[in-house]
Amino acid sequence: MIPRSAAIPKTPSWQRQMARSFTRLSTLLEWLDIDRQKLPFECDDSSSFPLRVTLDFASRMRNGDAGDPLLQQVLPLQQESAVVDGYSQDPVGDMNAAVSQGVFQKYNGRALLITTAACAIHCRYCFRRHFPYQQQHLEQQLCDQTLEKLNVPDISEIILSGGDPLTLNDQRLAQLLLQLKQLPYLKRLRIHTRMPVILPSRVTPELVEMLRTFPLPVTIVLHINHPNELDKRVATVLHQLRHSGTHILNQAVLLKGINDSSGVLKELCEKSFDMGVLPYYVHQLDKVHGSAHFQVSRERTLELEEQLRKTLPGYLLPRFVTEIAGENSKVPINLFNH
Ligand code: SF4
Repeated sequence: MIPRSAAIPKTPSWQRQMARSFTRLSTLLEWLDIDRQKLPFECDDSSSFPLRVTLDFASRMRNGDAGDPLLQQVLPLQQESAVVDGYSQDPVGDMNAAVSQGVFQKYNGRALLITTAACAIHCRYCFRRHFPYQQQHLEQQLCDQTLEKLNVPDISEIILSGGDPLTLNDQRLAQLLLQLKQLPYLKRLRIHTRMPVILPSRVTPELVEMLRTFPLPVTIVLHINHPNELDKRVATVLHQLRHSGTHILNQAVLLKGINDSSGVLKELCEKSFDMGVLPYYVHQLDKVHGSAHFQVSRERTLELEEQLRKTLPGYLLPRFVTEIAGENSKVPINLFNH
């Protein structure tokens, strides 16, 4: 008989690790040694946007600490079901920007592709948590009609988004990149992903090679909200990505109780820069239904921006912005007055 241990590869593939993510609140809390009865808030086990977090990310949470800033990002709270004025299912106007199935164009020169509905983590504040992925994501192969929409002089940059595009396997990704590199007007490729942070093993040698050999400049925009998300394994894969010639930026979302302090934001900017990541944006929360408890006031946001400006060199200072549906760019928070 084959011993149980022999049936399991020593280094499970990233897909296997992703499949082993925490999806039950009780299991996660037990693993973190947190007594549910002592949580200061009620959780919701039956949310339509269920709990999901990788073991990797959970291992960076502090044991026994219900207030941990990484745990707060994934806990489904009962208060998410409260209806709050001003919060909606599509706060950034995605649906008005659809040009064909899975293709969106909000800003000049750029098109965004919804490559998948899948993510390795479910961030409670996600502005696409109610997104109708079933109707609005790309088919396996870009069809002729989609390629026609993308093959215009007006589109010089494609943004792979989702979901998380790096949850696609290497074969799917390679097919997609093959199709994209045949677009004559394309000058740049951008990938919006949390995978190198949430599941570092996703950064396989094959993926690094695929990015290295893509004939156009590639930029990865990560999404890291707190310095505790960064550890040695993340640093290692970021180093590999950088050595493939990829530019790496970070956009964070300002979240009450998680990173709404100048000390935390400063540490995030400095620590990510040490790992080769340039701070790009701090977004004010998009007012998506279910996320109101994360909102930081505009006044506090301006204060934080000012405090960071005084303590960081200019090249480490992210732009504090908000997204307003229908606007043709992100709006600096100091110009937005609502
Ligand atoms: S990884 Fe990105 S797309 Fe996925 S839930 Fe988090 S914020 Fe949303």
